[in-house]
Amino acid sequence: MLEATYLPKHLVSFQGHLMTAQTKIALEALYWQAHELYLEMVVVSAYRSLHDSLQIKKRYPEHYPFDCHEDYHQAGICVDLLDERKDYLHYANSPLYLYLKHKGPAFGLIQPEEKCPWHYQFVGRDLALFYHDHPDEPLPLHLMTSPLY
Ligand SMILES: [Zn+2]
Repeated sequence: MLEATYLPKHLVSFQGHLMTAQTKIALEALYWQAHELYLEMVVVSAYRSLHDSLQIKKRYPEHYPFDCHEDYHQAGICVDLLDERKDYLHYANSPLYLYLKHKGPAFGLIQPEEKCPWHYQFVGRDLALFYHDHPDEPLPLHLMTSPLY
């Protein structure tokens, strides 16, 4: 579990949101591939402090059914992605969602929580492909909590 005051070093910006450099590289590549197919990928949230996560969770409890300590926006490795409609409720039915579900792992992105289809975590390509091929395999705790990825 991260300290409440944990702040990742060397965050970079993509679409105006802060994240780790590896996360940005993956997202940027994925963005352009999706763009080729006329799919618009919008980053609606990336790095945010624990305080901000707790505020958002209080305001939109249906969007954040799991503990803020576990979603790791605070580590700069989690992003919330939507299509241009920015519609959380219908995102799971969008072409972009299906595209990212299929292509995301090759770029190192997994979806740690089924109930939050817009929420992605960068874990690196090898691990993401492993979990894509073994969907019943539980994510180990260190993977959920490590700020190293
Ligand atoms: Zn999220």
